[in-house]
Amino acid sequence: MCSGGTAGPSASGVVAGGHREWAGYDGSAAGYDSDVDTPVTFDGRPGLPDTLGRALRDLRISVTDRCNFRCTYCMPKEVFGRDFAFLPKDQVLTFEEIERLARIFVGLGVEKLRITGGEPLVRRDLPDLISSLAAIRRPDGGEVDLTLTTNGSALRSLARPLADAGLKRVTVSLDSLDDAVFGAMNGIDFPVERVLDGIAAAIEAGLAPVKINMVVRRGVNEPSIIPMAAWAREIGATLRFIEYMDVGHSNGWQLDEVVPATELIGLLCGQWPAETAHPGYRGEVAGRWRYLDGRGEFGVISSVTQPFCRDCTRARLSAEGTLYTCLFAVEGRDARALLRQGATDAEVEAFVREVWSVRADRYSEQRSAATSTLPKVEMFAMGG
Ligand code: SAM
Ligand code: SF4
Ligand code: SF4
Repeated sequence: MCSGGTAGPSASGVVAGGHREWAGYDGSAAGYDSDVDTPVTFDGRPGLPDTLGRALRDLRISVTDRCNFRCTYCMPKEVFGRDFAFLPKDQVLTFEEIERLARIFVGLGVEKLRITGGEPLVRRDLPDLISSLAAIRRPDGGEVDLTLTTNGSALRSLARPLADAGLKRVTVSLDSLDDAVFGAMNGIDFPVERVLDGIAAAIEAGLAPVKINMVVRRGVNEPSIIPMAAWAREIGATLRFIEYMDVGHSNGWQLDEVVPATELIGLLCGQWPAETAHPGYRGEVAGRWRYLDGRGEFGVISSVTQPFCRDCTRARLSAEGTLYTCLFAVEGRDARALLRQGATDAEVEAFVREVWSVRADRYSEQRSAATSTLPKVEMFAMGG
């Protein structure tokens, strides 16, 4: 109970609690099942394994690189001002292209589709895409877990049409209940009240349980942690604290701005005793903690201090149709070109198999002062 060393489902003993040391990565793949001849993956189920035995199970689809917010940790307004050149429309995947790729991924064992961006709700006619994705069936005939991550600003008008189109759940990002803190973090002084109203609309539309993502940045929104947790307990939402990550190059990330998972867990358990809960499935990104008083749970996404690469089953498709196998990838592979050259479904499937089967990514486990300056794609461009 509240011993707190391990935030993730399979934390690898890396930097437990210390935020000024780096992982002692020895360059080996010890602990991984690297027998790729066996078509059974690390979770014992059939699937498409990468070089470390991790199955392809989740696809995050970015539907736009645009956003109406300018969060300081993602798209700081000093860098992404009026003159910034976002993708022209003809370079963004159409709904038909997205649906076709998603269907092929699901045929290969993907069980969960998460729509993201940029801000996905700024993409016109999004419910149309949701209804076509909701119709996709897994090889066993089952439904796909279809969800979406949003800043919540347009949920009041879109929650109902999205739910009617077949969306199951939403994750809403909110970093503080304090208008001054939130307004500074979202970069456009967007009021808390409107996000709260969007969350209420999501609950009314049945997009539940709602998950809330809160990026915690040292010296910026630490005082918001307990009020956010108290509010989430009150409304029955699961709050997930995200360690501030060194994604992209624009946010000027510094290690000492990361509040380590163990510190967060200690703070919360000091207020409301909690115990670890088992992860929902292997590959779930958040370490889960259940409040002992029965008032729900919270999660901690500890990608900096306790990486979970060995359970990482996610691929990402950017708005322009580039396929990435890691959030911190330097480069991806162009699926759009393949589609627009007239490739058959079998050829697209072979492409995905090829990309995934050579995957060896484990950036967060290898992160060091040196890797944090490597070239990386911005998170809003890749799809967070
Ligand atoms: N615009 C949507 C939103 O904000 O929810 C979806 C895209 S956003 C890139 C996805 C998630 O990434 C959000 O929860 C956001 O807070 C998180 N995120 C963005 N930059 C981050 C960073 N540097 N460190 C940790 N999380 C970050
Ligand atoms: Fe936009 Fe989401 Fe990035 Fe904030 S985190 S700037 S809302 S894409
Ligand atoms: Fe997955 Fe890459 Fe993140 Fe590791 S660093 S958990 S491989 S996305």
